[in-house]
Amino acid sequence: AKAMGRNAYSFFTKEMNIVMTRRFEIEGQLHGALERNEFEVYYQPQLNVKDGSIMGAEALLRWRNPMLGNVTPDEFIPIAEQTGLIVPIGKYVIEQSLSFLSEWQTASQQDYMIAVNLSPRQFRDNDLIEFIKKALSDTNINPDHLEFEITEGVLMIGKSYIDEALLELHKLGIKLSMDDFGTGYSSLSYLRQYAFDVLKIDRSFINGITLKKEDCDLVKATIAMAHSLGLVVVAEGVEMREQLTLLEDLGCDYVQGYYFSKPIPARELLEFKHTKNS
Ligand code: C2E
Ligand code: CA
Ligand code: CA
Ligand code: CA
Repeated sequence: AKAMGRNAYSFFTKEMNIVMTRRFEIEGQLHGALERNEFEVYYQPQLNVKDGSIMGAEALLRWRNPMLGNVTPDEFIPIAEQTGLIVPIGKYVIEQSLSFLSEWQTASQQDYMIAVNLSPRQFRDNDLIEFIKKALSDTNINPDHLEFEITEGVLMIGKSYIDEALLELHKLGIKLSMDDFGTGYSSLSYLRQYAFDVLKIDRSFINGITLKKEDCDLVKATIAMAHSLGLVVVAEGVEMREQLTLLEDLGCDYVQGYYFSKPIPARELLEFKHTKNS
């Protein structure tokens, strides 16, 4: 038993060592990644359930580093948040997304939307609102075509600077979207308290929607609740035709997922639209 315990211990430290080395490497490479131009913003289309037309796209960051290869956002975003590097990186995403949106709208003559993820740490940046205002005016984008996706985690921090920033964004006419809905704590009060426009149902519920009655019931109730509060609903992670059909029956407004498209580079999205229309 003693030997086994020791083995378990050394195994544990070895695992921890790997995790910490990886973290250390990512953090090291993350510094300067912006300057070295290693980021690219990808876009995943969001479609109208009723007619399949494109409503807009969500901006999703990609990082390719010469030493580490492709690092997924799930791995580097938390580290960017902890180190504060998400502030300049997040600004880059906003700039890129708005300049892409301007190009996309011009090329297509459509009123597309762009949705950008905003993490908690970015709210601590005093310059955030001014930066967004300037980015909007530089690109000539109407504020109501920009949407920020925020998770419940942000609201649970309970800081007044967050409330003030959200109010400020709302006053500018920017849309607020509650991301990953259903994965955190009771959020109904937040939806009321803050002026959210959009509710995104988390992928984990959409996954089982055609298989588990509970998931289907939950999604159905969520859509009804969102609509009664005046929000529109986006279902994320739609991978199958059957999920789309069911979501349509349940009155879901918009869908996003691999069934339609993975997140793709700007160039491809510009073409994606044209091929769908022709
Ligand atoms: P999220 O905001 O919930 O984004 C949705 C994630 O689901 C994306 O992963 C997307 O590629 C993936 N996805 C979309 N459709 C499907 C589908 O049908 N099936 C499956 N299995 N997955 C699907 P991604 O791009 O790896 O991003 C992961 C997370 O990293 C995001 O989750 C978001 O929290 C964060 N993130 C990504 N880009 C940014 C960014 O620019 N800023 C911030 N703050 N966070 C970001
Ligand atoms: Ca999101
Ligand atoms: Ca999400
Ligand atoms: Ca997520």
